[in-house]
Amino acid sequence: MPEPERQPGPKTRDALRARVEELESRLSSACGRAGRLRRDVTLVAVTKTVSPEMAKLAAELGLLDLGESRPQELWRKRDALPCGVRWHLVGHLQRNKVARTLPVSLIHSVDTLRLLTAIDEEAGRHRIRADVLLEVKLVPDPEKHGFSPDELGEALGRLAPFHHVRVRGLMTMASLSDDPEAARPTFRGLRDLAERHRSQISAPHELRELSMGMSDDFEVAVEEGATIVRLGSVLFTGLPDCFPG
Ligand SMILES: *Cc1c(COP(=O)(O)O)cnc(C)c1O
Repeated sequence: MPEPERQPGPKTRDALRARVEELESRLSSACGRAGRLRRDVTLVAVTKTVSPEMAKLAAELGLLDLGESRPQELWRKRDALPCGVRWHLVGHLQRNKVARTLPVSLIHSVDTLRLLTAIDEEAGRHRIRADVLLEVKLVPDPEKHGFSPDELGEALGRLAPFHHVRVRGLMTMASLSDDPEAARPTFRGLRDLAERHRSQISAPHELRELSMGMSDDFEVAVEEGATIVRLGSVLFTGLPDCFPG
């Protein structure tokens, strides 16, 4: 028998609420430093390390954009949570998992035109339009997915045949580092790429959204123009009753 999921108690709720408040104040300060508005940055709470119950608690506390990196885990939590949640897939998506993943609020991690084609076909079947970001690899790393900057330029020139997907922007991951400043050139690079290509693509596609910044570097990302930050550990690590999902 599977272990019953344990419910987070009132202590956990208070602790998570305090985390959210602290995070909000750091986000507001970063926006202030950059002369930006807090409402122009979407906080996606990445729930990949926590149980559906904890994800539900996050939603009850007002975190309505939730992200998962594995499609199967997104399906599981989506089934368990109320439907007001906007789900984001932030990790790698294989083509054979597209059908079960749609519909979803935003797929951050489109890394090939083959995947984009698969999403377009499946969205067409559902008669919906799927919102996606193109993932860009700005730091060479065999472990990471994403278009190189050159490949991105080429891919953006080939969006015309897609009618059921809408490219909303770009996503990137910075290299792991102890120093948040180390991520700044990567984030600036993503913003520069979006600016360089913005005039080249036509509606409904756009390069408005920049999904960049995680727990260790989100303030730098906001300073460099992130419109979406993806935060997991800063919210959940070390909370009382925070059992692995
Ligand atoms: C896990 C994950 C995050 C969140 O990372 P934290 O460092 O825990 O904030 C963000 N984006 C992606 C793609 C992830 O896999």
